[in-house]
Amino acid sequence: MSDLRDLYQEVILDHNKNPRNFRAMDDADRKADGFNPLCGDKVTLFVRLDGDVIADVSFQGSGCAISTASASMMTQVLVGKTLAQAEALFDAFHDVVTGDPTHAADTSAVGKLAVFAGVREYPTRVKCATLVWHTLKSALKGEQDPVTTE
Ligand code: ZN
Repeated sequence: MSDLRDLYQEVILDHNKNPRNFRAMDDADRKADGFNPLCGDKVTLFVRLDGDVIADVSFQGSGCAISTASASMMTQVLVGKTLAQAEALFDAFHDVVTGDPTHAADTSAVGKLAVFAGVREYPTRVKCATLVWHTLKSALKGEQDPVTTE
């Protein structure tokens, strides 16, 4: 399993080093800010919708490797998803990162986001991984107040 774990870390480090969709979006339909005071992670999320389909997602911000990689990978998987699919993915991802550490995670529903299953062993890291997802939820609901994990 340690090889697998190394691979997971490589993916996270790669996304941290070269975050995908790391840019502001001028024509965003939705925008939300998230903050994780426990770690200092900050994220601004931009979403462009085409009907109920996510046409484009991007983010800006600064944070630890887990939060940056989570945001980067989230933007990659969301494009082309409907709002209902995005919601389902949020729930599945939440289950994977907050599940009982003594049980294997059911990662089948989250695809490559399964790399974050390892954070379940580190409760403070769970907030780093989920911050951008909570921010997404807020953006899609059109909420104005910044999201905080506290
Ligand atoms: Zn963090």
